[in-house]
Amino acid sequence: MTAIRIDGKVVAQRRREQCRVEASRVAQSIGRAPALAVVLVGDDPASHVYVRNKHRACAEAGVDTHDVRLPDSCSSRELRAAVERINEDDTIDGLLVQLPVPDAIDPAEVRGWIDPSKDVDGLHPENVGLLASGTPRFVPCTPAGCLELLREYDIPTAGREAVVIGRSLIVGRPMATLLSTKGVDATVTMGHSRSGNLKEICQRADILVVAAGQAEMVEPDWVKPGAAVIDVGIHRIADASRPRGSRLVGDVAPAVGEVAGHLTPVPGGVGPMTIAMLLQNTVEAAGRKA
Ligand code: NAD
Repeated sequence: MTAIRIDGKVVAQRRREQCRVEASRVAQSIGRAPALAVVLVGDDPASHVYVRNKHRACAEAGVDTHDVRLPDSCSSRELRAAVERINEDDTIDGLLVQLPVPDAIDPAEVRGWIDPSKDVDGLHPENVGLLASGTPRFVPCTPAGCLELLREYDIPTAGREAVVIGRSLIVGRPMATLLSTKGVDATVTMGHSRSGNLKEICQRADILVVAAGQAEMVEPDWVKPGAAVIDVGIHRIADASRPRGSRLVGDVAPAVGEVAGHLTPVPGGVGPMTIAMLLQNTVEAAGRKA
């Protein structure tokens, strides 16, 4: 690989250390540690791993966590009641409901139940609107982490062509919004599953952010030589040569490293940044009470 490897683990570790210092300062001024509640509904194994990692990162940073677990059979009404109890609890600063929720529950409804001042995932319509207006309260953690990586590696954005593949509320759409905000100033194109000529669109990108959820979809001939490529995707695929019988891959083929100027690895790129940004949003939410 000739591309510079963007080391999300190192950047995230630095940011987590800053959060630890800030959490302790906030704790002194509000008389308790910042606190995050994580609501997990059902038995999705990947969600269990993500939630465990969040609790662990919070503990290391001096952020208290409340672990709220509900069964797969939980109704919308029961989940709403749990969310509202947390909304009303003044000792909890941040709240997230781990996605996906079971099919019987509409995630759009869930987003609307969360108190916008505790919505550390930045998914409540009010927070989506604030980000779109250029006055963000909480920026969704994954796109916030991607932008931090561009900044940390001094990758210029102003006046550059940026392409984001994916238009989800949690990654693609806020990523495109962030890249086009004043101060970041990229010229942004958002591609998605109905874009006809995705390869040509990607070829113009100085900055390419891929969040399509399709394993190794982006090939080297999609990428402009020297471009910065941020791979958000994460997939576990079978690999009999590995001790676990599987390995993790992203949405970008590894050979892209021969063409790109910068590339995030999977794992160890965007993933660690998502957790660091969650800590940052939680500490900020607590800090606003100080
Ligand atoms: P999603 O399924 O909600 O959205 C995927 C988007 O990609 C959709 O907008 C869809 O239009 C687009 N898309 C799908 N197939 C496409 C194709 N063939 N060509 C072009 N566009 C296509 O997924 P998401 O929640 O945005 O997550 C995307 C990926 O990022 C997943 O692999 C997910 O696991 C990963 N992810 C990683 C992190 C992290 O912290 N590393 C966080 C969130 C999501």
